[in-house]
Amino acid sequence: MATELIVIGGGLAGAEAAWQAAQRDAQVILYEMRPHRATPAHVTGRLAELVCSNSLGSNLMDRALGVLKAEMRRLGSLIIACADETALPAGSALAVGREEFSRLVTERVGQHPRIEIRREEVTRLPADSPVIVATGPLTSDALVEEIVHLCGQRHLYFYDAMSPIVTLDSINLDKAYRASRYGRDASQDSGGDYINCPLNNQEYERFVNDLLAAETIQRHRFETEDERFFEGCLPLEVLAARGPEALAYGPLSPMGLRDPRTGTRPHAVVQLRQDNLAGTLYNLVGFQTSLTWPEQKRVFRLIPGLEEAEFVRYGQMHRNTFINSPMLLHPTLQFRERPELFFAGQITGTEGYVGSAAGGLMAGINAARLLQGAEPVSPPRTTMLGALLHYITHAEPKEFQPMKANFGLLPEIEPFIRSKRDRYRAYAQRALTDLESFLAATGIVEEQVGP
Ligand SMILES: Cc1cc2nc3c(=O)[nH]c(=O)nc-3n(C[C@H](O)[C@H](O)[C@H](O)COP(=O)(O)OP(=O)(O)OC[C@H]3O[C@@H](n4cnc5c(N)ncnc54)[C@H](O)[C@@H]3O)c2cc1C
Repeated sequence: MATELIVIGGGLAGAEAAWQAAQRDAQVILYEMRPHRATPAHVTGRLAELVCSNSLGSNLMDRALGVLKAEMRRLGSLIIACADETALPAGSALAVGREEFSRLVTERVGQHPRIEIRREEVTRLPADSPVIVATGPLTSDALVEEIVHLCGQRHLYFYDAMSPIVTLDSINLDKAYRASRYGRDASQDSGGDYINCPLNNQEYERFVNDLLAAETIQRHRFETEDERFFEGCLPLEVLAARGPEALAYGPLSPMGLRDPRTGTRPHAVVQLRQDNLAGTLYNLVGFQTSLTWPEQKRVFRLIPGLEEAEFVRYGQMHRNTFINSPMLLHPTLQFRERPELFFAGQITGTEGYVGSAAGGLMAGINAARLLQGAEPVSPPRTTMLGALLHYITHAEPKEFQPMKANFGLLPEIEPFIRSKRDRYRAYAQRALTDLESFLAATGIVEEQVGP
């Protein structure tokens, strides 16, 4: 039986995965191509380099990232430990000294007696050892080709074109109504599969004007120079700039969407489509955009019914290599057709620094378990980590886009708690309690032998 684990990519996910496996007695070879081969975004040769913001998000227990970090601390996360040790004053957020953080991760991983770091680009997937692929959103071209060979071209994506997602309970259903276009495809008794926000002439005009005047993010050069970028998926604001009625004839078309309360057809309709199996999240159809996040919040809240919308994900368009995890992976992060092959981090669709590290953590634990002949496992869906892994492996494959940790991924608590703050605290408490039961059942914390 193999005793060696190969981890490809020394970013947030790969460094965490290597650490977790080595802590469980695995001999790990960690391949990182930098500094010999650069990515378009990294600027150093250090492991776990933060390519943009230096914040790992909230530490509060009524925030999804706060809960995820608490779970990761309990599981002995290297990334969160190094972030805690290099934290800067940032209120309730965990912001870090960027250089100190990646230097500390590099030092810890480099000094682990069972991890060997090789500074090489991997271009072929090794066939004779367990492997974790954690090469991130900017995976090198040669390895991309190899992954295409493994998964098929249609299961690998190069760009995000993400629409914003809002929670169902933040949509005003006194203004919005359920319907499917021309009454087609309506689920029984629901009135329709879509939630529709109607706009009259004035509301539409105001929305388009504000959309066109809104601030957009600066695009990276490596994105603007790539002709695949807008392929088949124009940002909302680019489409709106084509003419005052372009949106009303496009994604905001009201055809077949008569408002049942007035019996008339609105001037335009914003449609929201269910985004998770639990039906707690809805995405704004066709709203992929490059508006800044504060501008999305301001402009999209002009839409009748979304005045109080709570955004769990904002729209985005950027370079991002990721696989169709719902088609390809188990929640243990094992490749379905090759159980000794794992994927972790942003390449699986777990969006963001902490989400990426969380995937690395579970992949590292599971690869070590596999080496020891134990069953790979996945935390319960009531934990933030389990919910995230469940989402990326059970989302609708045709619509799959990366996802951040958020409370909408968790199963609801019965009876429903009205106050959002109390509800989120109850989710957090349940997550930590259920994590303890999971740890007791699997012995995951005890199986660590340390450096
Ligand atoms: C431009 C940009 C900005 C972002 N900004 C943020 C942000 O502000 N906040 C946030 O939370 N998230 C951000 N993200 C999203 C994401 O969370 C980060 O990219 C995160 O670093 C992903 O972690 P990862 O471990 O999956 O990938 P990475 O951290 O990118 O690690 C992958 C590693 O694999 C290496 N590699 C690639 N190919 C090979 C190969 N063939 N052989 C060997 N090594 C290889 C790379 O050099 C890299 O070190 C951003 C992403 C991008 C692209």
